[in-house]
Amino acid sequence: MFSEKEIQKIRNQFPILKERIYSNPLIYMDNAATTQKPLKVIQSSKNYYSTMNSNVHRGVHYLSHKTTLYVENVRKKIQKFIHAKHSSEIIFTKGTTESINLVASSIDAFIKEGDEIIISCIEHHSNIVPWQVLCKKKGAILKIISIYKNGFLKLTDFEFLISEKTKIVSISHISNVLGIINPVQDIIKKAHEYGALVLIDGAQVPSNLDLNVQNLNVDFYVFSAHKMYGPTGIGILYGKQKILEKLYPYQFGGGMIKNVSFDKKTTYSDIPFKFEAGTPNIEGIIVWGDAIDFVKEIGISNIQAYKKKLLMYAVKRLSSIDGIQLYGDDRNFSKKSGIISFNLYELHCFDVGSILDRLGIAVRTGHLCAQPLMNFFKVSGMIRISFSVYNTFKEIDYLFESILKTKKILLK
Ligand SMILES: *Cc1c(COP(=O)(O)O)cnc(C)c1O
Repeated sequence: MFSEKEIQKIRNQFPILKERIYSNPLIYMDNAATTQKPLKVIQSSKNYYSTMNSNVHRGVHYLSHKTTLYVENVRKKIQKFIHAKHSSEIIFTKGTTESINLVASSIDAFIKEGDEIIISCIEHHSNIVPWQVLCKKKGAILKIISIYKNGFLKLTDFEFLISEKTKIVSISHISNVLGIINPVQDIIKKAHEYGALVLIDGAQVPSNLDLNVQNLNVDFYVFSAHKMYGPTGIGILYGKQKILEKLYPYQFGGGMIKNVSFDKKTTYSDIPFKFEAGTPNIEGIIVWGDAIDFVKEIGISNIQAYKKKLLMYAVKRLSSIDGIQLYGDDRNFSKKSGIISFNLYELHCFDVGSILDRLGIAVRTGHLCAQPLMNFFKVSGMIRISFSVYNTFKEIDYLFESILKTKKILLK
């Protein structure tokens, strides 16, 4: 656990936290949408353009060698970070969304009419729509695992749905709405018994859980840099080597070919480059490397333990408010990360969010990119707060007071 002094030291690394919003101090509680960036990351971006900028993999000149080396070092850093076997199993993409689209598009040749794909009703739209499109294209069938009122997946549903017809199971590791940590290890094991491949949407995971893709024995794992203190527009697809080698490329062009010819067959590079057509987000990759260092310096288990304390304190305070409805309110905190979604009486979530904004608190409102989950709870939207390592207990107290104030204003 961090002392107040240590938290202040961490906060000092985030210049944006000194901003004032309508003359109130910024209280940033929208970390599940994107986290703020520490000085190390901001400086890394400046440093890249000041000392390194050039294209990778193609030049013989000094700077091109340098950026290539840095980019490939970050690939190795991510390999170690998630405990992958080979660095070639790390494909750079725009982020979680593109990674899922890559798999759903490249796996196309292995899906036929009548095959089945299983997802759950808590998924982010990014882990729903690509599968809907694939199913429509191939005449495959999308099957949905439901949840209990407390937000936990109905594993009995999963056991009922899985069969030899199942080709892919795609589930989020941590729900971006409820913060629930899903039992992905059990799901992966069961799916493999039926020969299905498993993709885990880990967008909410890095810097929250210690990730080991080999222990999970997962086939594909995806996440973005920007939810772990890194830049936007960069993320990865992890895939097992043998599977990635079999998949068809996702996009075509420079960087992903071996030979291009009008007479003979055009041939493609080996992984990872087969899936990285065009100039990559070089800056994003290199800066991400520094965000990973930032996370490692603080320590994932420290971040996790601190955020759990914030979560427990916030649940305790918020649940005491009259008329508040916390969704997926299961107090099994070992299976939750620092996310709370709620509504206040019948008030519209946008109204609540707007008043909190006026008071300096940044929260997310609306369907949270999970309309099927909103339908499950029979609401059109929710208010979501999500914590990061720079949030404080004092901020939670201020949030509590602000919600009371909001109630007073809106219920008049
Ligand atoms: C944020 C998020 C995504 C989408 O990530 P992008 O970085 O926007 O591509 C997908 N799934 C979950 C669970 C998320 O939290």
